[in-house]
Amino acid sequence: MKTALVTGITGQDGAYISQLLLEKGYRVVGLVPRRSTGDVNLNRLEWLGVAGEIEIADGDLTDLSSLLRIVDDYKPDEVYNLGAQSFVGSSWQQPVHTGMVTGLGAVNVLEAVRIAQPDCRYYQASTSEMYGKIQEPQQSETTPFYPRSPYAAAKLYAHWMTVNYRESFGLFGCSGILFNHESPLRGLEFVTRKVTDAVARIKLGMANELRLGNIDAQRDWGHARDYVKAMWLMLQHDSADDYVVATGKTTSVRKMCEIAFSHVGKNADDYVIIDPQFFRPAEVDILLGDPSKARRVLGWEAETSLEDMVIEMVETDLRRLQKT
Ligand code: NDP
Ligand code: GDP
Repeated sequence: MKTALVTGITGQDGAYISQLLLEKGYRVVGLVPRRSTGDVNLNRLEWLGVAGEIEIADGDLTDLSSLLRIVDDYKPDEVYNLGAQSFVGSSWQQPVHTGMVTGLGAVNVLEAVRIAQPDCRYYQASTSEMYGKIQEPQQSETTPFYPRSPYAAAKLYAHWMTVNYRESFGLFGCSGILFNHESPLRGLEFVTRKVTDAVARIKLGMANELRLGNIDAQRDWGHARDYVKAMWLMLQHDSADDYVVATGKTTSVRKMCEIAFSHVGKNADDYVIIDPQFFRPAEVDILLGDPSKARRVLGWEAETSLEDMVIEMVETDLRRLQKT
């Protein structure tokens, strides 16, 4: 039985990768930092019905000693480093924290692996935000980066450190450059989930408006359930490498809103209000990924359309709110 250590196990991707790994017969250990309540937030893992099957290891990405102890204790075959301060918007408010967790945190995990379990395979959760002010209309593994937020800059550091550990120490380190991926488990602060939650509230008479920022921004959105499969495939390949994971289609926030509102028979223009507080100090206007390498080398392809995903998210939010 293989053992996988997952950082960020309580997050969206942590929940989906745990489900996938458990289905494949792995022992799954999750790194969970101490929070003020003492209770571990297992909501997402519970939603997928896998909370009872994972093991929790008490540790924090900023604490190398905890990572060394955990890697030494559990001797994982694979580490998925998904933990991060992952919200671009907050990264301007908490740039140092974002750098410590999202950037240096990855190096702490790489160090723990290098010292305590050097044959372990390592996955780094890199991001299309690293392309920022895009240098090519469709971004691939060879497109130059131009990060536009403290979050993106921290992720770029972690990305290059993964490449460095691979080239310097022969570590099996893969960096997945994942474009935005969403699901009913997405945090409410991200635009897709903010929209689907608001659409459900409006439909149920619990709200009458939706305040957004730059709705002309365009993203290449896929489903988290599909994207975690690419993470796993990267670590099963003969050699370590970096891969873009995307759908190859881009859609505006405005259009995404229209899809969500029209699913409940409403018109987005009647409810969306543009609110300057949601504009960012610097914007990533458009992202469009080229997933051809992942398709060619890993046999991976996005399976869920944006329309199907948005409908799944709206329906789930409707059910959630009807229960409250
Ligand atoms: P989430 O924000 O849902 O999850 C982040 C996780 O990191 C949570 O479990 C969080 O724990 C944990 N975490 C935060 N700080 C620490 C810390 N100091 N020590 C240990 N764990 C910590 O992110 P997603 O699941 O959406 O994304 C997974 C990864 O992929 C992230 O690194 C993200 O930046 C990256 N990514 C995501 C994309 C997307 O579209 N979703 C696109 C590209 C990359 P807690 O819940 O306790 O705060
Ligand atoms: P990101 O790509 O990781 O920043 O993911 P988000 O879902 O947070 O944002 C996607 C895009 O939607 C960005 O270009 C945001 O500027 C834009 N956007 C417009 N209005 C909002 C909003 O109210 N909240 C968020 N989170 N993003 C918004």
